[in-house]
Amino acid sequence: MLVHHGSSLAGRVTINNKPILGVSSCLLGEAVRYDGTDKHAQALLLVLKTRFEVRGFCPEVAIGLGVPRETIQLVKSDEGIVRCVGTATAELDVSERLRASVEGQKRWFGQLSGYLVKARSPSCGLDSTSLYSAAPPGQRKLIGHSSGLFTAALQEHFPHLPIAQEDTLKDPLALKDFMARALSYYHEYIER
Ligand code: SF4
Repeated sequence: MLVHHGSSLAGRVTINNKPILGVSSCLLGEAVRYDGTDKHAQALLLVLKTRFEVRGFCPEVAIGLGVPRETIQLVKSDEGIVRCVGTATAELDVSERLRASVEGQKRWFGQLSGYLVKARSPSCGLDSTSLYSAAPPGQRKLIGHSSGLFTAALQEHFPHLPIAQEDTLKDPLALKDFMARALSYYHEYIER
């Protein structure tokens, strides 16, 4: 099972002369989800691969969560702090590890020209992940939506990096726009 390609790209900005896109590993067909399944976005990846090399990364596996694993969710405290905690185990808090997963491999992420993330994930979602009130498991209430903590950290470290979710790229215009933005980012930040 291939879940993480960070070390293999050191010092490289293209593969086969194509810019590199980071992709949530489950979208590549890797069985890394909490229940041991994948979310293979085969048709979308076929299009993206015409212009990009794709490399997978699963932040939850990278921080040491196993497969299968307890599900996690985003909660927001009264002070406005968003954390990622277990849906059953109150003590399971992976917030700092998820945030640090970008910082720890900044060189690898810095070689990417765009990122395709899985919608609605507490790690990978982009403004689409359910956000709950901070309360014991079973008593949390849905209060809105936010980005997963890995994707939020990616945006913080690389504010111009094009990031898109697989479900929004079902729209051909959105897909075309994402590819154009990633190629432009490559020329502006990576190639030089
Ligand atoms: Fe891993 Fe992200 Fe896919 Fe969840 S959504 S299985 S964290 S790559």
